[in-house]
Amino acid sequence: DMSVTSSEKAYRVVLAGDAAVGKSSFLLRLCKNEFRGTTSATLGVDFQMKTLVVDGEPTVLQLWDTAGQERFRSIAKSYFRRADGVLLLYDVTCERSFLNVREWVDMIEDASQEDIPIMLVGNKCDLREQALKDGITCIPTSYGQKLSMTHNSLFCETSAKDGANVIEAVLHLAREVTKHA
Ligand code: GDP
Repeated sequence: DMSVTSSEKAYRVVLAGDAAVGKSSFLLRLCKNEFRGTTSATLGVDFQMKTLVVDGEPTVLQLWDTAGQERFRSIAKSYFRRADGVLLLYDVTCERSFLNVREWVDMIEDASQEDIPIMLVGNKCDLREQALKDGITCIPTSYGQKLSMTHNSLFCETSAKDGANVIEAVLHLAREVTKHA
């Protein structure tokens, strides 16, 4: 019955992670199938809707983009409080963003009442090969996997630029979120 389906609630998924890891780009790829080389810094919080078919069921996601900057942390926290799931991004070519994952997980767990599903996402994987050649410290896949296990979260690597794994990451999280709800 479509009338029942369309009145179903939207699940709230919040994007987290340091500034410039690619949260806005990830959303742009997911919702508009676009990529822009330059995006303006996210101001405050905005959301996009996306309907995915999860295990045969149309599932509506309300995806909230938060800014990574320190001054927005109090805002971010208030969004985690009402989140059904979190996409926690780092940049595989930025060690700092990976080291900060722990702080983000603490903030998420602090803000939300119960354990909510988290998908840890190593973004910009299209850049890793070149970055390694350029002598930039990159985060190997195995490190991301290991970190996700210590936080009991899901894990994948994506590229908002070429689209690799973006839908898959969100689908996988959505499956957990609907199971959990
Ligand atoms: P946010 O601050 O986390 O929302 O990050 P943005 O989406 O604004 O991205 C920061 C910069 O990284 C922008 O110049 C993006 O074009 C670039 N970027 C984002 N995702 C990717 C990616 O997967 N691959 C590459 N090569 N660049 C990316």
